[in-house]
Amino acid sequence: MGYGGNTSCIEVRTDSNQILVFDGGTGIRLLGDALEREFAGAPINAHILFSHFHLDHIQGIPFFRPLYDARNHFTFYFAGRREANLVMDALRGMMANPYFPVDMSHLPCSLDYVDVLEGTFDVADTRILVLPLNHPQGCVGYRIMQNGKVISYCTDVEHGVAWSDKNIKRLAKDADCFIVDAQYTPEELPEYSGWGHSSWYQAIQTGIEVGVKCIALYHHDPYHVDADIDKIQSDAIKIYSNVIAAREGLEITV
Ligand SMILES: [Zn+2]
Ligand SMILES: [Zn+2]
Repeated sequence: MGYGGNTSCIEVRTDSNQILVFDGGTGIRLLGDALEREFAGAPINAHILFSHFHLDHIQGIPFFRPLYDARNHFTFYFAGRREANLVMDALRGMMANPYFPVDMSHLPCSLDYVDVLEGTFDVADTRILVLPLNHPQGCVGYRIMQNGKVISYCTDVEHGVAWSDKNIKRLAKDADCFIVDAQYTPEELPEYSGWGHSSWYQAIQTGIEVGVKCIALYHHDPYHVDADIDKIQSDAIKIYSNVIAAREGLEITV
């Protein structure tokens, strides 16, 4: 009730007011409401990038109300090494009969689907590096770069696999803000080996090692209550002062 119970979704607003959204968990429903209030009928144009297609990262999409307005335009992105049209098929499959009454092809807004390869590409006025991370069925992390500032988004990653640990470090190097999987405590972690997540301690260690300026602990365990996350944050601050447990509505300016 304090940190918020919605699943993964963050908005990045660039210097020129371009809208980038990372993941479409249930948090995107509230983002949709906020965008409608802000734009007040003017067209909304946003870029929505997915880390992967586990349900907690896409299940808010059908309830993102700006999709139901013909004035709006959205581009969906996923960087996978798998088959073409993955992002379109994954989202359409979720909204197909009998899971949802509105088929994606009948949405009134205009949509584009972009499958990109790992590496660097441009979205609006922002340069993005995308690399795969260790997670069951795969996940990607994003390094978002604009005007000399860097945000790194590494949700859903389990530390301890060399190629993936290396990719996290590339994505996070010297970042102004490092948003990182910190689902478990170090005490809980051994019980969840192979589940694809990290402890807050691993998140902090990686952040310190690559010189990030701020760490947002992210992807809280759904079984942790506010007091558990308060404790994680206070333990983490003892090791690294500029750390915050992500909470619903949190805004960070870099
Ligand atoms: Zn996942
Ligand atoms: Zn997840």
